[in-house]
Amino acid sequence: MSEPHPFSSQYKLDKDLGKGAFSVVKKAIQKPNKHEYAVKIINTRKLTSRDLQKHEREARICRMLQHENIVQLHHVFQEDHVRYMIFDLITGGELFDDIVAREFYSEKDASKCIQQILESVKYCHDRRIIHRDLKPENLLLASKTPGASVKLADFGLAVEAMDARHYYGFAGTPGYLSPEVLNKQPYSYTVDIWACGVVLYILLVGYPPFWDDNQQRMFNVIKKGKFEYPSPEWDTVTADAKDLINKMLVVDQAKRISAKDALDHTWIKNCDRVASMVH
Ligand code: ADP
Ligand code: MG
Repeated sequence: MSEPHPFSSQYKLDKDLGKGAFSVVKKAIQKPNKHEYAVKIINTRKLTSRDLQKHEREARICRMLQHENIVQLHHVFQEDHVRYMIFDLITGGELFDDIVAREFYSEKDASKCIQQILESVKYCHDRRIIHRDLKPENLLLASKTPGASVKLADFGLAVEAMDARHYYGFAGTPGYLSPEVLNKQPYSYTVDIWACGVVLYILLVGYPPFWDDNQQRMFNVIKKGKFEYPSPEWDTVTADAKDLINKMLVVDQAKRISAKDALDHTWIKNCDRVASMVH
């Protein structure tokens, strides 16, 4: 007979790891062998059937993905009104906190970091998945050691793509939203590339390309794709790095670079030779 509370009987909950809009993430220790995992806990009691479907979708998508740069899902338990999603425990914290601690990344570190993000994004796109919420809070570092690998997390907003562009709804995080999402136009995979462009810009200088206290004003600037490379911090950044950002932050989604082509860009491919040692 199956256990009535398989999660609680098999795992012991430990410290908090993070918190999102609909979930808390805690460390969980598997009782017999003391293996450590991260568990995303979702209280489903008050959720509408639409929200429940979204959580189903998150689990369905996570089950499809196995990649060294993606946080691995192991198991999902549904108990009474709580859902537990068991993931590999990632111990290096959010990329967000690492950028804040370091202020900004050297070109070489930024290139290696965005390469791994692009590998995870290409893998998703090859499997017809659009992540839709790429940002440093959803990118985790495998450990605290410098050069630790990067893992894409949080498929809470991810969708299964249709053949043609489609309006999947207004979803994402304000500073990372693409012009086509803001314009409520049909969109596709390249919304993730726009967000990669924002992440790469932030990695190199520690502040975002589009920012305004007033959200509507920020959205208007994003829709125009207007951003700058202010002096002096951008003066030491190579033209190749800026070229890649310029190809990601393209307003016309049809002209925006793909994950595959971005991985072939010289600043990624020949990073040891091309990425500056100065910045
Ligand atoms: P939400 O959909 O609520 O934003 P996330 O999946 O992004 O939930 O998780 C929230 C936070 O929990 C993350 O930003 C991260 O700090 C932490 N977290 C998520 N998954 C893991 C994991 N596998 N290992 C360690 N920390 C994690
Ligand atoms: Mg999140």
